[in-house]
Amino acid sequence: MKAEIISIGTEILLGQILNTNQQWLSLRLCELGIDVYHQSTVGDNPQRLAQAIRQGLNRSDIVITTGGLGPTVDDITLDVISRVLSKKLIYSKKIACKINSHFGRQCLKMPRENLRQAHIPEGAKILENDVGTAPGFIVEEDGEAKGRILVALPGPPRELNPMFGRFVAPYLKKKTGSDWVIKVRTLSMTGLPESAVDRKVKDLLKSPPPVTVGIYAKPALIELKIMVKAKNGKAAKALIDKIDRKISARLKKYIFGRDGETLERAVGEKLAKARKTLAIAESCTGGLISDRITNIPGSSKYFKMAIVVYSNEAKISQLDIPPAAISKYGAVSRQTAIEMARNIREISGADIGLSVTGIAGPTGATRTKPVGLVYIAISVPKKIIWKEFHFKGEREMIKFRSSQAALDLLRRSL
Ligand code: ATP
Ligand code: MG
Repeated sequence: MKAEIISIGTEILLGQILNTNQQWLSLRLCELGIDVYHQSTVGDNPQRLAQAIRQGLNRSDIVITTGGLGPTVDDITLDVISRVLSKKLIYSKKIACKINSHFGRQCLKMPRENLRQAHIPEGAKILENDVGTAPGFIVEEDGEAKGRILVALPGPPRELNPMFGRFVAPYLKKKTGSDWVIKVRTLSMTGLPESAVDRKVKDLLKSPPPVTVGIYAKPALIELKIMVKAKNGKAAKALIDKIDRKISARLKKYIFGRDGETLERAVGEKLAKARKTLAIAESCTGGLISDRITNIPGSSKYFKMAIVVYSNEAKISQLDIPPAAISKYGAVSRQTAIEMARNIREISGADIGLSVTGIAGPTGATRTKPVGLVYIAISVPKKIIWKEFHFKGEREMIKFRSSQAALDLLRRSL
């Protein structure tokens, strides 16, 4: 079954509200195994709305509209649907009573305008609204677009969401008459540019149905989404596992989590498993890495301490970095990063010392040291790992990328 969503409201087109209904409905339809082929938004304009609904009924089995069911003059959905489907609007005493009692509960008298909402297209199934006044409805077309389904839902998410869950989802499940499911798995990775990931999985990105593999780049994070459609949950999982194995074989080193697992959680799990403790010396990240590490419940098991040594004096007095090293190589240098990692490990008594020093910008660059230059070092007994990075972006982005790179270097070292 093919579905499409039409969001109605000029305020969406003007960017005044975010169209969360569209995303929410798409997720629900996906769970029901229904393909969403089109999403569109129209303003509160009768001609354009009528055109969108006609086009929708032409190309999709199910058209879901959201918004414009209220009592005000800009709420035109009911009238337009009635006109497009050539269905009279019928007064429903039951709805009128319900709206009346909605106002009654608040000791208010029902405004005359609300009576308009007590009308629904002839033959439509009423979807009760337990939160607001506007009922939704489902019309099964018997005219030109026979067999097509139109579902009209109110705009406010707090009204739409329960209405969909209570009435529309069970209705659509019955209509599709199968247990087809769509399952999605997200593989998160970092440390590789999007183009490199693309090259490694090019063939999989062109997978034929019922498999879809998509690549999504975010700052210092690439997600590969595997989406499959199958007869039941078990078959879907088997299919996803198969694709997952193929991707893992090529990108194992870079994948840190699945289905939203964060890098800090992956690091925490590895530290806990290895029974290692960690101490951090941060400069340009200003405590961001420690913040991320401590976002994970139970991190006290492996996280000993951190220190933000932002100034040269602090690096010298708190971490015993030799002043000569700073004046010779600079605070942002491989040498300083290594000293910081080693010394924080020794001072704290932790198994692992991690350090970051860099230039987050926009000021602070020199002729030889540009904004975005960051050194990260990891110290374990008798071993030092260090890496130089050149990050792009604004100050906060460079800080985030630095924290991401530090956590990933740590993850890989474990
Ligand atoms: P009402 O009876 O509240 O007027 P309605 O069905 O007429 O309901 P709209 O007038 O289109 O709905 O929108 C009412 C409010 O619902 C909007 O101001 C907005 O807060 C929210 N809303 C509408 N459409 C969306 C959407 N697509 N995504 C998120 N919120 C929305
Ligand atoms: Mg409205």
